[in-house]
Amino acid sequence: MLLLTAIVLFRTWQFKPAAITPIPKANIAVNSQQIAEHLSQAVQFKTISKEHRSEIDYQQFSAFISWLAQIYPDVHQQLELKKFNDYTLLFHWRGSEAHNKAILLSAHYDVVPVIAGTESLWSHPPFAGTIDSEHVWGRGTLDDKGSAITLMEAITHLLAQDYRPKRDVYIALTHDEEIGSKYGAAAIADYFADAAIALEWSLDEGSFVLDGMIPGVEPKVASINVTEKGYLTLELIAHAKGGHSSMPPSETAVSILAQAIVNLKNAPVPGGLEGISAQIYDKMARHMPFSSRVLFANKWLFGSLIENKMSEMNSANAMLRTTTAPTMLSGSEKSNVLPIEAKAKVNFRIHPRDSVESIIAYVNAVIDDPRIEIGIVEQFEPSPVSSSESPAFKLLANAAQSIHGDLVVVPGLTVGGTDSRRYQLVADDSYRFLPMTLTSQELTGFHGTNEKISIENLTKAVQFYNYLIKQSDQNL
Ligand SMILES: [Zn+2]
Repeated sequence: MLLLTAIVLFRTWQFKPAAITPIPKANIAVNSQQIAEHLSQAVQFKTISKEHRSEIDYQQFSAFISWLAQIYPDVHQQLELKKFNDYTLLFHWRGSEAHNKAILLSAHYDVVPVIAGTESLWSHPPFAGTIDSEHVWGRGTLDDKGSAITLMEAITHLLAQDYRPKRDVYIALTHDEEIGSKYGAAAIADYFADAAIALEWSLDEGSFVLDGMIPGVEPKVASINVTEKGYLTLELIAHAKGGHSSMPPSETAVSILAQAIVNLKNAPVPGGLEGISAQIYDKMARHMPFSSRVLFANKWLFGSLIENKMSEMNSANAMLRTTTAPTMLSGSEKSNVLPIEAKAKVNFRIHPRDSVESIIAYVNAVIDDPRIEIGIVEQFEPSPVSSSESPAFKLLANAAQSIHGDLVVVPGLTVGGTDSRRYQLVADDSYRFLPMTLTSQELTGFHGTNEKISIENLTKAVQFYNYLIKQSDQNL
């Protein structure tokens, strides 16, 4: 027992953060008020993506594109512009040395709708682009017009200094990320593939610098995400005899379906702290208090304890495994009629260790009831895991630290879907990271109410992209 305690303590003592090599702070002068003003104007275009494409007001998209040309004339004159399906823009900045691999920086300018009935909860109207002393308010400021505008500002800034990159730089502004990116990022990826343009890396949204968001971790954490989860919606249909509800059989379509859903709930898809999930927590846990560090330093002993604890927290659970979420249900049309079928939709977010096929096999095994028919509604495989050892990852880490100060940098996993799932097909590595520092309070604006971004974050994002493009020319 004494020996065991000694081993546990020794390993905990060894389990400390890697020494941080100080990164010189970059000092890049930009006009913060003007950036805020430009984002404010961008927010006022209601470039809203809707599930039914026929309901989308494309005039707003055209107007946004015209406005962009007017506000960023240098980018439009000095870079070549290609359009895909009318509304997705790809700017090509030709490098001075053709043999280098290109890079792609991407943002989307479509936004999600404001849920009807929630408008009055906004402190400022969602499409007014209100600027106060600290923030620009409105739908899209965080997701993802803030990034689109700061990219344009950074290129404009570099052009004004007569900067010319050594490698080809592509800037994509896409128009349908919120509804699956089929005509935007997918078209760009097809173009790169057809033209045999090799990308060393791509950078897109998908994470942030997290301030106080990881329980127990004091320093800010830059999560540079190297992969994203897949997506699968299954429809479960239970069949049974219908009839009057006054003399029901012991099992009805509803009870058969309900049992299947309960079975899925009781059998979460197996997961665990290995692979990318282990990498993430290995870096972060070194900054946690002793009580947590002792566990993570001794996974050989406390592995299942850690996994059980993490599984109880929704956000940590999503890092460990493919998640299961029943989202839609229907039965009979009338309260006194037994349905001949009852239906449910269940949405899975597939961890990179699983696949669409493995999840379907798992669901079949768990439900194990021939009266349930299982159909695929929508599917997308999880992304391959990009390198967290590559020069590009180090470059992103340095850029984040140089602009945002001392940070813990970890590779991460995006639990939603982004345009990167398209770019990964044509880039050696795809990274998902927005150079902005967010608290959990600010994160609630994401697809939610009172979306806003601080002017400080906008300033830093311009400085980050500026630094990143210049530094990516080093070592070529
Ligand atoms: Zn987004």
